Amino acid sequence: MAETLCVIALGGNLGDVPATFRRACEALSDAGFRIRRFSSLLRTTPVGCEPGAPEFFNAALSGFWDGTALDLLRICQKIEADNGRPNDHAHHVSRTLDLDIITFGREIIALPDLTVPHPEAARRDFVMVPVREIEPELADWLLEQAKSKTDSGG
Ligand code: AMP
Repeated sequence: MAETLCVIALGGNLGDVPATFRRACEALSDAGFRIRRFSSLLRTTPVGCEPGAPEFFNAALSGFWDGTALDLLRICQKIEADNGRPNDHAHHVSRTLDLDIITFGREIIALPDLTVPHPEAARRDFVMVPVREIEPELADWLLEQAKSKTDSGG
């Protein structure tokens, strides 16, 4: 299978998040994902979380993947679970680790479990700032995709 350049966003606000991000990178590499770039860490205010939730760390990484997007999603979900985030977690609560597939090449994927480009990415600065730092062309492409979706009423 051909390799695909992918971008994954990382977030977390519980525990030693930079250490969790390092473990996530190791686990992705162990699974065969070849990391190309890793952004700076951002500190961000929680959006929609429980009152008093700690600040988040956010970052993005890019790299090459030989399998399918769903394979990559399952690996990300396993890494989240191995780092203390159950798969049946609630949305908008504090978490040790969140891994979101932002782009998978320039593919548009609409599966029950997986939407790529990630539908929230283009309107979240805490995603776009790190993505622009590491893969500026993909950041532009994400904005174009979001705009064409808005223009077509989607
Ligand atoms: P979250 O609370 O952001 O971790 O959402 C996890 C859920 O979003 C899982 O059930 C995934 O199947 C689904 N999902 C849909 N699209 C994506 C994506 N691009 N990256 C990661 N999870 C996704």
